[in-house]
Amino acid sequence: MYDLHSHSTHSDGELSPGELCDRAARNGVSHLAITDHDTLGVHAMSNELDTTDITLIAGLELSTQWGGRGIHVVGLDVDVSNVSLQLGVASQQEQRTLRAVKIAHRLAALGLGDSLPRVREMAASAAIGRPHFARYLVETGAVGNSAQAFKKYLGNGKPGDIRADWASLQTVTNWIAESGGTAVLAHPGHYRLTRTKLIALIEEFKEAGGKGIEVVRGNQDRATTQRIARIANDMELLASCGSDFHRPHRSWSDLGRFSPLPPDCVPVWTEWQHN
Ligand code: AMP
Ligand code: MN
Ligand code: MN
Ligand code: MN
Repeated sequence: MYDLHSHSTHSDGELSPGELCDRAARNGVSHLAITDHDTLGVHAMSNELDTTDITLIAGLELSTQWGGRGIHVVGLDVDVSNVSLQLGVASQQEQRTLRAVKIAHRLAALGLGDSLPRVREMAASAAIGRPHFARYLVETGAVGNSAQAFKKYLGNGKPGDIRADWASLQTVTNWIAESGGTAVLAHPGHYRLTRTKLIALIEEFKEAGGKGIEVVRGNQDRATTQRIARIANDMELLASCGSDFHRPHRSWSDLGRFSPLPPDCVPVWTEWQHN
């Protein structure tokens, strides 16, 4: 059982890498990819993890943009010591830091206080993301929960939705390819694209060297899974699956808790050397 999309405290997840591995193993996951946003931080310490019951696949989730939209690309089975990938990740981190300062300015201008010290403290050495600002807004009582924080302040088109200058689709895909990894388009059902636009995105992703697409994601309805599976097959893309787990929460699927890949899909792991 493969879960190839999850987050730890190295980005915006709430469980430490150790807790994540334990929970995944308890849920019957045999192969887990911890794919934190724009960081390889978790892999620098992964030799300290107890992996008796689980095989870790080195991965990450890179932020990019396409047609003015934020798009995510998951890199799987990467070589974390690859210099191109490491330099790329460092530049993405710089973008995250710059963006965090801008978000803090926007929120301060709305009378929501100086969030930067608190989000820095929350993120610690991890990559700062909008979920940290969401937590700040909940803590200060500005909103009732993090979904509201996104709806009011951080989501698409809201004041805290700052366009970071992420690397291009071609560039992030190159980093993954150069590190020997497999580039997978993350949660394609999530971008609110028309079918025509989605196909255009996937064509460009493939031309850039993209190899796979997330066909199954936690809490995804059957119709979406079938729609993406058909696109994956028509466009000869490998199929990935993952929970995109961030925290134990009843409204989100747990590690390993999602439907299996449709039988006509070619799983992304068929070309890997793990067993
Ligand atoms: P960032 O990486 O800073 O752009 O933030 C994106 C992250 O915010 C995603 O990976 C999700 O974890 C989280 N997120 C995005 N939209 C929402 C939402 N509407 N409610 C709660 N969390 C969200
Ligand atoms: Mn996230
Ligand atoms: Mn994502
Ligand atoms: Mn994710």
